[in-house]
Amino acid sequence: MIEIERRSTHQPPQRPRHAIGPWRPAVARTCIDCGLCVSVCPTDVFFFAPGRRRLAAPRAEACLGPDACGVCVPACPADAITIPPNPNWSSLGNAEWTNAMIASTWEAGAHGALSREDPVAIGESGDGFDQMGLIAPEGVPLLIPDEVDLRVPLHHRGRQVWIEFPVIGGAVEAGAVSAPVTLGRAMAARALGILSVAPARALAGRGARYRENLALPLDDRPDGAALADLARAAAITLRYPAAPDLCGLSDLKQRLGWLQILNPGALLIVEVDATSDAPEVAVGVAHAGAHVVHLRRPPAGAPLAYTINPVHRGLQAEGVRDQVAVIASGGVRTPHDALKAVALGADACAIATAALVALGCIPPRDPGGALAGPPGVIADAPSFAALVDPRWVARTTVNLVLAWAAEWRRALAVMGLPDVRALRGRTDLLAVVGQQPA
Ligand code: SF4
Ligand code: SF4
Repeated sequence: MIEIERRSTHQPPQRPRHAIGPWRPAVARTCIDCGLCVSVCPTDVFFFAPGRRRLAAPRAEACLGPDACGVCVPACPADAITIPPNPNWSSLGNAEWTNAMIASTWEAGAHGALSREDPVAIGESGDGFDQMGLIAPEGVPLLIPDEVDLRVPLHHRGRQVWIEFPVIGGAVEAGAVSAPVTLGRAMAARALGILSVAPARALAGRGARYRENLALPLDDRPDGAALADLARAAAITLRYPAAPDLCGLSDLKQRLGWLQILNPGALLIVEVDATSDAPEVAVGVAHAGAHVVHLRRPPAGAPLAYTINPVHRGLQAEGVRDQVAVIASGGVRTPHDALKAVALGADACAIATAALVALGCIPPRDPGGALAGPPGVIADAPSFAALVDPRWVARTTVNLVLAWAAEWRRALAVMGLPDVRALRGRTDLLAVVGQQPA
């Protein structure tokens, strides 16, 4: 008897299933499949599937709309085309994460490119990064984007640790994403040559493979297995203040000293809340021996953009700016936000929400609400988690970062900067734009 091996036929999605745009072009039954709309549409909304003579369902999300384009309607000899607004579009997103930003992030995750001609750079919050635009100084020679260097050093004391792009995979709350998502993020970090923050135990025994690209969070009371992981980690991340009973900088210094004895080669990253006292705290953290100050916007805190430059200048005034790297996170939605953070003084950014949006998650309408996501991405129920292939997570995350990298290179080339490090602290390359806060 021949044994037939049974394998799952589940194929992970190749692109977001719910890519949408502001318009919903529709074709009536009067269509005679002449193909004129296919030839006039600049964004390939209309097409014939290979081997078919019937017009396929339009790729509605790519439509530019009747005001910006509209050429297909008069071109159709059968009056079959209408372009009504998409009602789902207006119900998507919020002022910070606009519908256009969400759609652009889905597209970047699916295709590895920001294919819209005018990449979405500004949200509608009128605050933080939405008040700022990047400017190109006059008279600078344009550079070749492919020659712009995006590598960033994170370790300024002793051994050099470089990341290939000015971004790392930010921490998500324990249990907030499924195991395949955590694993896929680690796979993406290795492929991209960056770091991803994740506990080793969340990788179900596969942590060793991705060790060089993982930053392990320090538990309050690590057990023996956790200590063994920490002793081999490439990077360790801990919060300041660490715990209610360990709140002083001397406690932090002791902890960092203990970690340096446990693992002398590890990059030590200290997370600091991006609040008004962050500049003083960052100086203390630098003096305590951290290699990286990770500035995190607390939930419902003031926009991250307002804290980065005071921290950068505080470290400069204390003479320790070149001894620590600064990573900023909490509100970096686009490649332009990341460049603005660097221009304000950060070395790199950490992204968590943007990476989850690329996987199909939707930021809430109410800014205080939770991210909604496809089954298996957010929830950790084993039955749903099995729906998600870590390779799809990795591919989508890599796509997102590569799409951002292309935009970083293009923008830096226009600004005449051959290296992303040359942008650090260049507030003269930022201008106030957009809506002012009410
Ligand atoms: S131009 Fe009109 S009739 Fe011709 S294929 Fe397009 S929708 Fe159909
Ligand atoms: S309005 Fe323009 S972009 Fe939209 S479907 Fe028609 S031709 Fe294509």
